[in-house]
Amino acid sequence: MSHKKYIGAHVSAAGGVENTPLNAHKLGASAFALFTKNQRQWKAKPLTEKNIKLFKERCEQYGFAPEQVLPHDSYLINLGHPEEEALEKSRVAFVDEMERCMQLGLDRLNFHPGSHLRSISEEECCERVAESINLALDRTDGIIAVIENTAGQGSNLGWKFEHLAWIINGVKDKSRVGVCLDTCHTFAAGYDLRTAAACEKTFAEFEKVVGFKYLKGMHINDSKGEFGSRKDRHHSLGEGEIGWDCFGYIMGDSRFDGVPMVLETIDEIIWSDEIQALNRMALG
Ligand SMILES: [Zn+2]
Ligand SMILES: [Zn+2]
Repeated sequence: MSHKKYIGAHVSAAGGVENTPLNAHKLGASAFALFTKNQRQWKAKPLTEKNIKLFKERCEQYGFAPEQVLPHDSYLINLGHPEEEALEKSRVAFVDEMERCMQLGLDRLNFHPGSHLRSISEEECCERVAESINLALDRTDGIIAVIENTAGQGSNLGWKFEHLAWIINGVKDKSRVGVCLDTCHTFAAGYDLRTAAACEKTFAEFEKVVGFKYLKGMHINDSKGEFGSRKDRHHSLGEGEIGWDCFGYIMGDSRFDGVPMVLETIDEIIWSDEIQALNRMALG
């Protein structure tokens, strides 16, 4: 049986979420990511019946099943916040994000795990994140919480595969937790991806510590920051410190089949070219 690589980009939701499947289709994408609300604000208008209806119709029309779509939550949310009040605010906002995904008929939500803000330990922060996930899963249905690995900038958690494993370990319903690997973040965090041999080693480490069964999405980005720099600076494919070998490796490896793989590269003018290049490598 032939498996499929779902490849696309994080597209604009300007004018309404219902425009995202259309924007993805125009790029020749078979996957996409989106924000279901303004990612820099706490409050958002609820989705309207019209937003929801058109979003679903267009996903159907352009062939996007839930497993090909990777919504991303707001950057303001910190599910591991050391202070109770701020933590509660994040938890409320996270449930709202999950509810929006449910309304849109989607099955997963991608988020950055959180920051300890240098006032609690990494382990304590991971426990808080896991508890936040448990609370959100209790209040919602059918949405998988997809933890993204980070570059480890500042006090951001989730740059080590072990952090992801600690969080998963604290989640009660393992069927509703997963991870998204961002290639830029992985590399900046100190996992080499520059050659096929380096990829082999890094993904073997991922399999050992976390496990591919938890992989629910990929962010395909090159990196402006150097290896191990802990800087979150994306670049266009082949233009940064990682290079094409890594992307060829991923496209040729069946462990990455069946999950949405989306570009968050810096030049959206060339997204359709980048998608085409990845598709060619996937057909190999
Ligand atoms: Zn990312
Ligand atoms: Zn990033």
